[in-house]
Amino acid sequence: MIAATRGIPVALTHVSKSYGTVAAVADCTLDIPESAFVTLLGPSGSGKTSLLNVIAGFLRPDHGDVLFAGRSVLDVPTHRRNIGMVFQSYALFPHMSVFDNVAFPLRMRAPDLTSPAIAQRVLQTLGMVRLAGYEQRLPAALSGGQRQRVAMARALVSTPPLLLLDEPLSALDKDLREQLQVELKAIHREAGSTFVCVTHDQQEALGMSDLVVVMNKGRIQQTGTPRALWRAPASAFVARFLGGANLVPARAEGAAWRLSDGTLVRAGRTGPGANGAAEIVFRPEQVAVATAPADGLNHAFARVAETIFAGETARLVAT
Ligand code: ADP
Ligand code: MG
Repeated sequence: MIAATRGIPVALTHVSKSYGTVAAVADCTLDIPESAFVTLLGPSGSGKTSLLNVIAGFLRPDHGDVLFAGRSVLDVPTHRRNIGMVFQSYALFPHMSVFDNVAFPLRMRAPDLTSPAIAQRVLQTLGMVRLAGYEQRLPAALSGGQRQRVAMARALVSTPPLLLLDEPLSALDKDLREQLQVELKAIHREAGSTFVCVTHDQQEALGMSDLVVVMNKGRIQQTGTPRALWRAPASAFVARFLGGANLVPARAEGAAWRLSDGTLVRAGRTGPGANGAAEIVFRPEQVAVATAPADGLNHAFARVAETIFAGETARLVAT
């Protein structure tokens, strides 16, 4: 029988991988806790897929180590690392039914399983991705979202302790993507495996993950819970990349910060640069707009140059 899944912890220590002069991954150190949902987030070309491929074993790092449950897997080939993989393109077998697509890895990897045991596990996994009743359909008769759920079922059917997903929702349109984000979280909870997911979509990363790893130019910029990254970005890049940030240059003055127009601002956490210069970051939900002047800290005058209607919110451009 197939044992119930438990996620494994994964550790990367000083992992680097270059292509010629391009450092695709540069000195990445990361601890992925057992059964966590971890997302690698960054712009295109930031090294997310390369890092995922290092974990998968498709790429051997030039430096550093990859540990599954504390043991190096550098010499373990991909097919023996016991991982499931989901890619942006579903890559289903078009001539096979949903059932046979999902059963395929079990038939390949566990030839001693009986047909009833395979059927039980396939139906259980299809239930997990909300596709019960679709067993006999061919992939061509499914929507994009359903096909991607078949791909997830196929990756999860042999209960891998680690599932790697590279932009699994990117090919779907917005509504479906948002719906599948919710489902992916539920699937993660039910599957019990460690999930490492790649995306360039900050909303998706913040919404789905226990831990977000922000990458840029091959380097890990910051690792933290979605809340921690949102509240305390470690750099201007992270603040900007998560979206919605207002950044204003400031200089340290005692325990507060002085903006260029003379406004004194009290703001927390990160220290100034070498010469006392810094950027204050604040998000739209931290701003209250008033027409009457007010005194005291953290009030600034601005002229509204533009109002952009966006349904439930409005964007103000102030100078
Ligand atoms: P991401 O998934 O974040 O878009 P990648 O890991 O695919 O980023 O790529 C990181 C960097 O490595 C990019 O500059 C990319 O052009 C380069 N790169 C990726 N794969 C190869 C390859 N096979 N040969 C040469 N350069 C590559
Ligand atoms: Mg990629």
